[in-house]
Amino acid sequence: MKIPDISKAIKQAVNNNFTHQLRLLKDLVKTDSTNPFTPDTSDPKAPIEKAVSDRLYLELKSLGFSPKRIGVTTARPNLTCTWGSPRYRKSLIFNGHMDTVPLPESSTAKTLLPVVKNNRLYGRGSLDMKASLSAYVFALKAIKDSRLPLSGKLILEFVVDEEPGACSQLGTRHLISQGITAKAAIIAEPGNKVGIGHRGGYRFKLTTLGESVHTGDTKWQKKEVGHNAVSDMAKVIAVLDQLDIPYKPSRLFPGKKPVFTFPTLIKGGTAINIVPEQCIAYGDVRLMPGNSDKQVRLLIEEKLAHVNNLRYSLENLLYAPAVELDDKEEIVNTVKNTFATIQGKTPLVQGIGPWNDAWMLWHLGGIPTITQVPLEGGNAHAANEWVSLKSLIDLTVVLAITAIRYLGANDDFS
Ligand SMILES: [Zn+2]
Repeated sequence: MKIPDISKAIKQAVNNNFTHQLRLLKDLVKTDSTNPFTPDTSDPKAPIEKAVSDRLYLELKSLGFSPKRIGVTTARPNLTCTWGSPRYRKSLIFNGHMDTVPLPESSTAKTLLPVVKNNRLYGRGSLDMKASLSAYVFALKAIKDSRLPLSGKLILEFVVDEEPGACSQLGTRHLISQGITAKAAIIAEPGNKVGIGHRGGYRFKLTTLGESVHTGDTKWQKKEVGHNAVSDMAKVIAVLDQLDIPYKPSRLFPGKKPVFTFPTLIKGGTAINIVPEQCIAYGDVRLMPGNSDKQVRLLIEEKLAHVNNLRYSLENLLYAPAVELDDKEEIVNTVKNTFATIQGKTPLVQGIGPWNDAWMLWHLGGIPTITQVPLEGGNAHAANEWVSLKSLIDLTVVLAITAIRYLGANDDFS
């Protein structure tokens, strides 16, 4: 089969199956997988994504595939599904998270109910990123329907615990630790470009330590005992206000630089008449390629060394290094050219702001990973989140054709 014939066959298969795909997507949206955790509280025993994982498992089974549950615990099962030649000439991963962010307090359970209106599907998680999960399943189904024997391996990965900050031990990182690897990967996070990198992030907790004493105490009046941790934090804030993080400008992130924000949250003191014993403040840092948590820690420590009589502790909460792919990578060209063929215009190829599990695949697994794909929708993380169904069909077609082009097929196809 030649490329135009393959495109035709895939488009036809995706369109034929789309009612079925939409049913799956509606079920995924209806099934709550709200992840309330932060990186430090994530619970391996809380079945956040279990029902979504089970629904996908059943779907893949009924379509004739052999999905596998691979979790740190049975409550948080990642799901994988492999298709293609075991000869393993080439391999490709489609990776996506099953959890969604918590619902806004003002919303009701209704936001989970999928509603189709004006060729859009509304509902929590529809865009981020349950539509893409449905696209993975039905891209694979279209490849199977086309009867093209792939001369490589396509691996679907549906992972847990991404939303708290893409730094979990339970999801993508666990699959890498189990030896699941490929020559390239795609994380079909929705956006308006082909993402070939993301900025990184570092979050920390800084605690100043004082000595508590009643403000009416004579020893406090004489400054013999007591030390105000909140006053110390004020000095720390003033000193860190000047913190500049050296960086190299990157072609992928035009106009961007590291951003140090401190504090973003703060808490100190226990009562109006007690000298505060401790003050806790949090900071958030956006990183460019080449920046690291160690570098930022060192800069903080250097600054704080100049504050007199300061006792403090600095704790890492999260670290995700930036990802920067070469735009000449084969997977980048394949995805870009396939979108251009299907949508009639070449997509923007650039780095993206928010980080995701791509840094694990790239830095821990050595797998060049696409960090975003064009998928039209709106209001991600809000109550009225939606995804365009036309755009979802395009994405499903693009993913199937990308897999065929990238992996090759045992035919006269080249
Ligand atoms: Zn996401």
